Amino acid sequence: MSRTVAFLGLGHMGLPMAANLVKAGHRVRAYDLVPAALDGAVTAGAERAASAPDAVADAEIVVTMLPAGRHVLALYDDILTAARPGTLFVDCSTIDVADARTAHERARAAGMRALDAPVSGGVVGAEAATLTFMAGGGEDEFAEARPLLDIMGKKAVHCGGPGAGQAAKICNNMILGVSMIAVSEAFVLGESLGLSHQALYEVASMASGQCWALSVNCPVPGPVPTSPANRDYRPGFAASLMAKDLGLAANALREGGVHAELGRKAAELYAAYAERVGDSEDFSGIVRTIRDQSGEAT
Ligand code: NAD
Repeated sequence: MSRTVAFLGLGHMGLPMAANLVKAGHRVRAYDLVPAALDGAVTAGAERAASAPDAVADAEIVVTMLPAGRHVLALYDDILTAARPGTLFVDCSTIDVADARTAHERARAAGMRALDAPVSGGVVGAEAATLTFMAGGGEDEFAEARPLLDIMGKKAVHCGGPGAGQAAKICNNMILGVSMIAVSEAFVLGESLGLSHQALYEVASMASGQCWALSVNCPVPGPVPTSPANRDYRPGFAASLMAKDLGLAANALREGGVHAELGRKAAELYAAYAERVGDSEDFSGIVRTIRDQSGEAT
């Protein structure tokens, strides 16, 4: 069934996601503050909306893909009154759990329905329609969004009520950030002990050290030819995005009074690393910082 979808936020992720909805036969009303981003969506077959309220006016489903919670809440203030009652608002941005819950409340108060549905899989996954969606909200809202999520991705998990999708996203990425640091420290320790990268990889990837950070995104060149380390750490998953997600995890740890020393430390290390390299390096490049600092310590 073809739906009328408003798509707001047509950046690195939003543009290919919107293009996949167009390709599947949906009517997409597009809007972005940046004219070049909006032009890209129009080239992909979406309709150009004159403003965000114009985009949502006759939409059945509104998808947002924005940088952070403050953008989502500010935009919701503009568009919740412009949509038809009962419209489903699906926010795919990665934002604070508290902001996501506020977005749900504001949508409900305005007579709308809402789902938080952040993604993993990056730009490559957005282009290839292989994203994983983690959704929070009601069963009915998830069921209604599902056909669109299935077009833009390969897996969609209903994680629970409002904010549960964002919660799953930051918990997963906290595991990833901590495990990438652990794997990187192990390689640098191995170097100092005269152990080759290949030998450590062959043992750990088959033993209890096995994890995605090692066996898919291996932070040293050689053992996994497709990992960013083999192309001078070009992303991949940019350091700045890992720092952002760990910052959201650190906020949630603080607000929940959760004692998680490694999660907090990983957020600190990635914030400092991303300040230097921004989005120019994959997050696995932190191995070089660990190596450089080890050199300074000896
Ligand atoms: P991006 O900065 O490339 O795109 C965001 C777009 O939102 C921009 O084009 C911007 O102009 C637009 N925008 C901002 N405010 C707006 C408003 N009020 N109205 C309309 N448009 C507005 O960011 P991205 O890389 O596409 O990421 C989007 C979200 O997805 C972020 O929350 C990010 O954390 C998350 N995410 C990104 C990746 C990735 O690899 N890039 C992976 C997973 C999740």
